[in-house]
Amino acid sequence: MKFYLATSFIFPRSLRMRIFFLCFVATHVPLLTYTVWGLTTGRIAAAAFWLLLTATAVGTVLALLGIGALLAPIEKLADALDTQDEEEGGEGAVDLSRAQDLIQRLYNGVHRARRSTDKTIRDLDVAANEDMLTGILNRRGFMKKVNALPASQRHGCFAILDIDHFKRVNDEMGHDEGDRVLRALAGRLSEQTRRADIVARWGGEEFVVFFNGVIETEACWALERIAWRMQGDPIGRIDDRPITFSGGVCRWVEGDLTGSLTHADEALYEAKRNGRDQVCTAVALTPAR
Ligand code: GH3
Ligand code: MG
Ligand code: MG
Repeated sequence: MKFYLATSFIFPRSLRMRIFFLCFVATHVPLLTYTVWGLTTGRIAAAAFWLLLTATAVGTVLALLGIGALLAPIEKLADALDTQDEEEGGEGAVDLSRAQDLIQRLYNGVHRARRSTDKTIRDLDVAANEDMLTGILNRRGFMKKVNALPASQRHGCFAILDIDHFKRVNDEMGHDEGDRVLRALAGRLSEQTRRADIVARWGGEEFVVFFNGVIETEACWALERIAWRMQGDPIGRIDDRPITFSGGVCRWVEGDLTGSLTHADEALYEAKRNGRDQVCTAVALTPAR
């Protein structure tokens, strides 16, 4: 890199010409040596001089053609990278602005490509973990976030919630209204839980909440508050009655994550069987409200 930068004043826009220049100087060393020796000793032979000069010229032309052919693929690569959209504010590329040749184009192009690939991967990662309709986490994102919790936070309660008679919202008021209700509940859950809690769409009209560091009773109180607000300020109506949800809660103390979620799901179905609009806990499977 040091030699490259130090020689960048020679043909700064063309690596091909720079290499050629260095080869040109190198291939002329025998001729120059012979000429200097011949002139100082007076023993220079015209035939030998012309022969050496011709051979050097031929060697120089061959070197130029060979260098051009060898650099052609790199040049094509640089052209391809040049066509990539430039990202603003990227980092990582060394400033090679003193040398504006093929190496600089390649170097910057590779960094541009890397930045753009990194951004695509970040965007895909967000898309893979986010629910498109509601903008909250999806099931995959939820599991990823719970699994990433530090050991000190790996305890609390899972609640799985399911909107009661949601199919009727779709059937009677249309799919768009159904979507609006789903977004509204996602919003309520996000607003009415703490920063440390994790809210996600579990699938369809089901949502999941991880109430960080609480016991069943506290999780049920939190759900109670959300349900209470849905009575005073409904997210929608079915048969002119505010939309309600049923829920199942299960405690999680580091360990069997899937088991806790399954128990929360079982508690949810208990709440449905008991008449809906209520939350059951997995321990006793008894209604909590
Ligand atoms: P229950 O009280 O027993 O939960 O009854 P339900 O009608 O809520 O449950 P069911 O499983 O019969 O219906 C769920 C409906 O949710 C069916 C499906 O079409 C609808 N649904 C699932 N995903 C979406 C969605 O993204 N948008 C809309 N609008 N509807 C959805
Ligand atoms: Mg359901
Ligand atoms: Mg439902």
